[in-house]
Amino acid sequence: MFKTFSIRTNYRTDLIEITDTVYGFLKECKVQEGICVVYVPHTTAGLFINENADPDVVFDVKNFLERLVPWVGDYRHTEGNASAHIKSILTGNSLTIPIQNGRLSLGRWQGIFFAEFDGPRERKFYIKVLKG
Ligand code: ZN
Repeated sequence: MFKTFSIRTNYRTDLIEITDTVYGFLKECKVQEGICVVYVPHTTAGLFINENADPDVVFDVKNFLERLVPWVGDYRHTEGNASAHIKSILTGNSLTIPIQNGRLSLGRWQGIFFAEFDGPRERKFYIKVLKG
């Protein structure tokens, strides 16, 4: 079970929660036990799991990444978005989430986030659900 999803990002750096989208697809799949893989096929975007209860956490993550890898710096990449490539590596391109009793095994405070680092633009991510 595999599906491609589109997502519209609104800022250069935009961290968007996609937990409900992942849950929606899992319901369609009707898988009780297995693994859910979320994958981003981009070199300047990423994925992460972290707190979704307090929006200040994501705000702080965004600000920290901006300070850690500034947009303007001593980069060679002529396209001008080296910062976005580096942030994509830091967050990673895929997530693996166990499925148990028809639910994602996320902790109480965990949410799944799409991380845009060179927006705004139209992006996509894939979800693959494996039964087992
Ligand atoms: Zn580039």
